[in-house]
Amino acid sequence: MRTYFIAGNWKMNLSPKAGAELATAIKEKNTSSKVEIVVCPPALTIASVVASLKGSSIGVGVQNMYTESSGAFTGEVSAEMVQEAGAGYVILGHSERREYFGETDAFINKKTKKALAVGLTPIPCVGEVLAQRKEGKHIEVVSNQVKALIDGISKEEISKVVIAYEPVWAIGTGETASPEQAQEMHAVIRGILTDAYGSDTAEQVRILYGGSMKPENADELLAKKDVDGGLIGGASLKADSFLAIVNAAEKLS
Ligand code: PEP
Repeated sequence: MRTYFIAGNWKMNLSPKAGAELATAIKEKNTSSKVEIVVCPPALTIASVVASLKGSSIGVGVQNMYTESSGAFTGEVSAEMVQEAGAGYVILGHSERREYFGETDAFINKKTKKALAVGLTPIPCVGEVLAQRKEGKHIEVVSNQVKALIDGISKEEISKVVIAYEPVWAIGTGETASPEQAQEMHAVIRGILTDAYGSDTAEQVRILYGGSMKPENADELLAKKDVDGGLIGGASLKADSFLAIVNAAEKLS
């Protein structure tokens, strides 16, 4: 059985001080023991959040990193730096990075390999935009993203990857994919993993849903067979709403 995975994407919110306060509140109020919980603050907030979460099992991730270890790449951070700062996870290829920073499938694949090489858990994101869904191309679009994402990633490595399916039309909009829409796409993604790695390996990979997941809809989304957790944006910025989603996963565990 796959362990539920609930990750908060704080996006460009919460300074080192405010982030430490939220992390402390999450740590103090958390009662779950069966869910893998991760918070992903902005890079400058990592140090204070790592310090606040010391002694807890809650993990810390970043929202992006570069493919190289060091060098003349102004403004970037490397996987090695992320790891030394105490973070163990990295969100990659979020739709906002694809849209505003021109990230491509090939670049996200390269970053995923780098994260794996250094020992970070990559959380690469895939998802279609509204026009693609309206045209009935969502399965094709996401399938192509997943195939590009896993290119050259070994059977041993893939089980360490946590894939997030985030329909772009549901991110930050208040509109959520129905549990059936989420399950349909998660099954497609697991099918691609099965074709590439066999079913034993594919069954180990966690596939998260992201897109306006909140306490009100978490239970029914998480109850779906291939939905192994959530990547949470807005609802991760308050301890109570984030932990309500964690608790929904805990009940299903
Ligand atoms: C996200 O940013 O990954 C996300 C899912 O955001 P929200 O929950 O706010 O839709």
